[in-house]
Amino acid sequence: MSNAFKTAFKLNALMEEKQMLQKARKESHMIVKCKFCKAPIRWLITIKGKKMPVDGDSRPYWLKPKGSKRIVTTQGEVFACEYEGDGKENGHGYVPHAASCSRYR
Ligand SMILES: [Zn+2]
Repeated sequence: MSNAFKTAFKLNALMEEKQMLQKARKESHMIVKCKFCKAPIRWLITIKGKKMPVDGDSRPYWLKPKGSKRIVTTQGEVFACEYEGDGKENGHGYVPHAASCSRYR
């Protein structure tokens, strides 16, 4: 392969990846059923571009660096946190479904 061809090939792959991510981000607003437990879930895209199943409803979270729980924001950030806390919550996010699925694993 010539270098120009390689570059074009790489660019094309990058664009396809971007389009796939954009499509996936749009789909993250859709609620679907978990194929294991049938609970309502949605697929969020993490900042690393990975699809992650989360519970259908958002919930408040309290940031805690060593918290035992995880929360995923609609921007795809994953934070260590607790689902209960003192004072005002830090925000609303989604619980990774792997943690709450009754049938998964
Ligand atoms: Zn499930």
